[in-house]
Amino acid sequence: MIAYETFLENLSAVRARIKAACEKAARPISDVALLPVTKTHPEQATLYAHKAGLFTVGENRVQEAAAKKQAVPELAGTLRWELVGHLQSNKAKLALETFSRIQSVDSVALAQRLNRLWLERGQTDAFAILLEVNTGEDPNKFGFQTQQTAAALEEILSTCPALRVEGLMTVAPLEGGRAVARTAFAALRELRESLQAKFKTPLPELSMGMTDDLEEAILEGSTLIRVGTALFGTR
Ligand SMILES: *Cc1c(COP(=O)(O)O)cnc(C)c1O
Repeated sequence: MIAYETFLENLSAVRARIKAACEKAARPISDVALLPVTKTHPEQATLYAHKAGLFTVGENRVQEAAAKKQAVPELAGTLRWELVGHLQSNKAKLALETFSRIQSVDSVALAQRLNRLWLERGQTDAFAILLEVNTGEDPNKFGFQTQQTAAALEEILSTCPALRVEGLMTVAPLEGGRAVARTAFAALRELRESLQAKFKTPLPELSMGMTDDLEEAILEGSTLIRVGTALFGTR
């Protein structure tokens, strides 16, 4: 694990990249939030984020996140956890106990299961989710196909009253570099616009962009970049 001072330097560098990209995109810097992704790093990474004033972290595995969360009881109530990785349905219950938002909802069945489990917990506030869409059509990636998303959203909106769909998430294809990533991000933005118009429902969050492609994501309208390597070092 890197030293806290190194983390702070990395954070400054990432913020400088965000600022430069926002200037290029003529967007206010306040439009783009930074989600530190602490997966595979020890719980110290979550302490670093919190100490630096970042009060939400991203994790891609339910059990890893739950264990880490238990290891930092001093952050209970002041640090939020979000799931950015694929969720198996048998871990849905633990996921609801661990995370305050799930960005990686990639099937109607999963949404319906989360909805039922959340109702069973007797919660009054809706649980926040994003729909993950594989706009880059990478066969190795999870997510709805772009063409399926409208029908899926329609079903989720009508059958999952305990969920609140806050927007869309995508992971750019592994291959193809920044140009291919940008095309995938543009497709997510266009999809968001068409879904908002079709369902007359706001979908404010566009979670896209990571260490290697955050500039392209910001140029295409990202509201949330998810950054691991550039903050915490290689995994
Ligand atoms: C690992 C991960 C990230 C962060 O990736 P980096 O390239 O390390 O910044 C972002 N989003 C998801 C879904 C991830 O799994």
